Amino acid sequence: MTTQGIVGQFLSLKEETDADLLAMQCGDFYEFFADDAETVGRELDLKVSQKSSHGSSYPMAGVPLNDLTPYLKALVERGYRVAVADQYETESGDLRRQITRVVTPGTLLETSRDDAQFLAAVVTGDDGLGLAFADITTGQFLVTEAESVADAAAELYRFAPVEVLPGPDLRTDDEALSRLRETTDASFSLFSTESFAPGRARHAVRDQFGDATVESVGLDSELATRAAGGILAYVEETGAGVLRSMTRLQVYHASDLLELDATTQRNLELTETMHGDRSGSLFDTIDHTVTSPGGRLLREWLTRPRRDRDELSRRLDAVQSLASAALARERVREVLDGAYDLERLASRAASGSAGANDLLSVRDTLDVLPALADAIDGTELADSPLAEVVSRPDRDAAASLQTELADALAEDPPKTVTQGGLFQRGYDDELDGLIERHESAKSWLDTLADREKRQHGLSHVTVDRNKTDGYYIQVGKSVADQVPDYYRQIKTLKNSKRFVTEELEEKEREVLRLEETRGDLEYDLFQDLRERVADRAELLQNVGRTLAEVDALASLATHAAGNGWTRPELTDAGSLRIEAGRHPVVETTTEFVPNDLHMDRERGFLIVTGPNMSGKSTYMRQAALITLLAQVGSFVPARSATIGVVDGIYTRVGALDELAQGRSTFMVEMQELSNILHSATEESLVILDEVGRGTATYDGISIAWAATEYLHNEVRAKTLFATHYHELTTLADHLDRVANVHVAADERDGDVTFLRTVVDGPTDRSYGIHVADLAGVPRPVVDRAGDVLDRLRDEKAIEAKGSGSSEPVQAVFDVGSGQMKVESGSDSRNSDTRAGGSPEAGAPQNGSVESASEVVGESADRAIDAETEAVLDELQSTDVNATSPIDLMAKVQAWQSKLEGEE
Ligand code: ADP
Repeated sequence: MTTQGIVGQFLSLKEETDADLLAMQCGDFYEFFADDAETVGRELDLKVSQKSSHGSSYPMAGVPLNDLTPYLKALVERGYRVAVADQYETESGDLRRQITRVVTPGTLLETSRDDAQFLAAVVTGDDGLGLAFADITTGQFLVTEAESVADAAAELYRFAPVEVLPGPDLRTDDEALSRLRETTDASFSLFSTESFAPGRARHAVRDQFGDATVESVGLDSELATRAAGGILAYVEETGAGVLRSMTRLQVYHASDLLELDATTQRNLELTETMHGDRSGSLFDTIDHTVTSPGGRLLREWLTRPRRDRDELSRRLDAVQSLASAALARERVREVLDGAYDLERLASRAASGSAGANDLLSVRDTLDVLPALADAIDGTELADSPLAEVVSRPDRDAAASLQTELADALAEDPPKTVTQGGLFQRGYDDELDGLIERHESAKSWLDTLADREKRQHGLSHVTVDRNKTDGYYIQVGKSVADQVPDYYRQIKTLKNSKRFVTEELEEKEREVLRLEETRGDLEYDLFQDLRERVADRAELLQNVGRTLAEVDALASLATHAAGNGWTRPELTDAGSLRIEAGRHPVVETTTEFVPNDLHMDRERGFLIVTGPNMSGKSTYMRQAALITLLAQVGSFVPARSATIGVVDGIYTRVGALDELAQGRSTFMVEMQELSNILHSATEESLVILDEVGRGTATYDGISIAWAATEYLHNEVRAKTLFATHYHELTTLADHLDRVANVHVAADERDGDVTFLRTVVDGPTDRSYGIHVADLAGVPRPVVDRAGDVLDRLRDEKAIEAKGSGSSEPVQAVFDVGSGQMKVESGSDSRNSDTRAGGSPEAGAPQNGSVESASEVVGESADRAIDAETEAVLDELQSTDVNATSPIDLMAKVQAWQSKLEGEE
């Protein structure tokens, strides 16, 4: 084949695939050509040479045949999808090449990540979305449905897939697609639309998992089935050969899990911080697992907290017994330390890529199971649910596979599985015979030198073998003339000569023949053995899962014992009582001041005030994380805790990352608020860390005010709301379940000391100005801020310094009604009194707006332009009680832009 031919073939194979790169076998190498060669050269620091032919020159880069895997892995982990074309010989002896597999981020078997490696598929339909998640490295396969794109995004965030297959409808839905893309770093791969078609998908799923499984797990959702079908077809097409290890179809319903939208998962820094670091996340802090499957499972638990108290109590029982039995726990962890990643080994066996060392790892890990049972028997752990976990897999089947492997494999097998040396004596009679003959032929060769020395009185004789000469007898030059006649010389070296004899050549042929036969036989035997292991993939996955579960439970116990955590008592959603609670992450790096929290059905809404940086958001996150940990089945950082099991945690906190994404902060804030107001229920926990900050003060207060009322009156969710709007604290007087708490601070001589203690009641004053002072804000600004604050306190009114008009305008925030008014300076006293006329009313009242507008009318020609008047008219005619918070926000936003003159 000419070079032109090879490059031509490369380019036409490249046409066949939508992979980013193609590695094509050319003899002993896999070659990349043209642009691919440049890319690979750059990414992997490979030497790029030029292959010229027919007047054209092509860049070319290659890797040795047996070294492809690490290069593939490196490329795929950098996000490339790589097609591999292998070379084969036709019957007529021609060399052909064809693409045998495509390795993509989601179908990479030899992964170096400890985390799960999910491949996801998302389809959309009239009734929502269908989702499927498969980890081909472990055989996990989960499907579910989601009602909305936001719900689907939350699930994507939970699973953190490395590759996503969008279904056909989704591809044309730009908005949904970009929403999903935002929640994941995964690469999106387009894949044949037919695979997602209902009939075809149903068939694929039943084919894969069997009718019985499909029925028993209750997979009746067409959407979920379509997503699953897409994944199965993709895995098959990419040719990783792991379909058979996917044995565990699970259908889950988001409603069984604690609802956590993507924003909340990010805000709570479950698996990575807001800055994207693993270190400093909750997972990183509490992970003491000793195996990577244990780490994966713990991470899964953290991102998928549960609601059913039975399962949680079971986990808590196990953690409790492990936490109190320090010695037994350490023994359990020691035993686990000897375990390999059985789920992944099962997939490697299934795909035919497991080597002898992998099967030895299977053997050793199967041995961990009885050792674990021994470590539990006769200790305090024997009566805990841990004993039940360990007895779950089929112990007899595991033991018999273990024995089979132990009897078969040699202790120190070579890396390649084709050259023999894999098996023990006694495993196979035919092999034993071969080995015996092979060994005896080799030992004849090994002792030949001695024999020749003795027989012929030669002093310098060695017998060796190399590629060109085969076996030879090497004799030192000084004695070379003493060799017998039947020695045939084949080479002269500087100090020696090489000879062969007929007998040696015959032995050589025998050894080579035996080596080859032995290699072939061992390879066949090995493939059989690997097949038998692959057939038991499900058993291996069960054992692997069990070991992972014990590891994860022991990890929770280790952290609990080491950090003085306590078992939470689980109860109805309404209450939340934490005594001396701490933030699980902050407490590990800071001298933490513990805090109490008390909420119940009568006291379900806490307004948290306190100076900036005093600890408000830490306090609220702590409440959310303690609740979440309890719903993971973990102990919690507190002296005691009674945790109401909630259906979801919703948070809205600072907008650091949205800013980075270039979205309007205020818009995002409102979208998040909107989502919470729509999704939270009476059984939920809501954390609001400042609402309305992204807009002008009065807008902000109004929105915060209305949202509080709505959450309190309509949603009735357990809510913690930190705000710097001191005005909101008066809501406690009007709304029966609202209470104020604040983070105490001490101020002396202008210095503020944060005490970090949360106590009942609102803050008595704002320390913001002192913080500004400490931060070096210029003195006149600080003084003026002090003035303004005093005026606000006295009058609840602020005099805005108008620029163009002679008359200053006063804007008044009426605490009693929760409304704002704009009025002329001269009338301020009067209208202030009027506006404060209905202090007992919790809900805003239209009456006071009217009076405000009268005032506005009087002064319109002096201070208020037509735009403003129009806005005020609209404001007046808006019935706040009859308008949903969302609509209200939209209106406020529209007014705002009118006032800013950007209609
Ligand atoms: P805020 O939300 O009031 O601005 P933060 O919750 O962000 O304040 O806390 C400010 C700083 O105080 C953080 O560095 C945090 O780690 C620390 N902190 C908060 N609460 C405590 C506490 N109870 N004990 C010790 N340090 C705390």
